[in-house]
Amino acid sequence: MSAQLSEHPTEWTLRRLHAGELPVDEATRTRTHAATCEQCTAVLRDAAQAQQQFESALPFERFEAGVKQAEERLRKEDLAERTSRQRWVGPVFALAAMVLVAVAVRPVLNTSLSAGVRTKGGAEAELRIGGEGAQREARTDVPEPLKAGELVRLGYSPDARKYVLALSVDAAGEVTPLYPEAGQSLPVEPGPGTHWLPGSLEFTGSGAERVVVLLSDAPVEMNAAMAAARQSFEASGRNVEQMKPLDVDGDQTHWMLLKP
Ligand SMILES: [Zn+2]
Repeated sequence: MSAQLSEHPTEWTLRRLHAGELPVDEATRTRTHAATCEQCTAVLRDAAQAQQQFESALPFERFEAGVKQAEERLRKEDLAERTSRQRWVGPVFALAAMVLVAVAVRPVLNTSLSAGVRTKGGAEAELRIGGEGAQREARTDVPEPLKAGELVRLGYSPDARKYVLALSVDAAGEVTPLYPEAGQSLPVEPGPGTHWLPGSLEFTGSGAERVVVLLSDAPVEMNAAMAAARQSFEASGRNVEQMKPLDVDGDQTHWMLLKP
């Protein structure tokens, strides 16, 4: 039986092939066709370029040195802390990340039509996964599985919002302050485009972890946001995957990460 396609696959199919999202059979058929088709080869080349552009806006590979340094530092610290809490990775690159303004190149494949928890407003947040393999933007409408060793960076487009805060909640309801670690929410970096919070995060342990980014007009005390997160966790029947928006003013974006 011939595995050849009689006509060009759609651009969508080619982009899914590039992203490794096609079932094996379809991937083989599509790849076989593209191998002898200039037009489809060009589409695949464009997809590769777009991914390269997307990744170069936020180079995770630079964090590898930071990861190692963080690990060395952590070895000297209390090991018990490691197992239950997220750890900061890449403080060396914090400054570089602060001045890095990412070009808003969004991957076509990750455009989600619906959002699990997204309150209305012009401000938006983005969760980028990288560190192992191709970078991707986490969707908000479905849980996002993390592979071992993958790192997370958080970005935001503040629109008219003035402050940003991020925290996470694990399956047991433990709330961890991410940005800032204590005190009030941080003033946003002004200007258009996506601004990336410094450093990358590695979520240790296993199970689900909800990450929340809050963009607000007034500063919010981290303690108050954490209390609102605990309240939402209790109200969900202690099910982190069922949590509703926190009872705080501002635009919220939630993601569910499934730790390896
Ligand atoms: Zn073709």
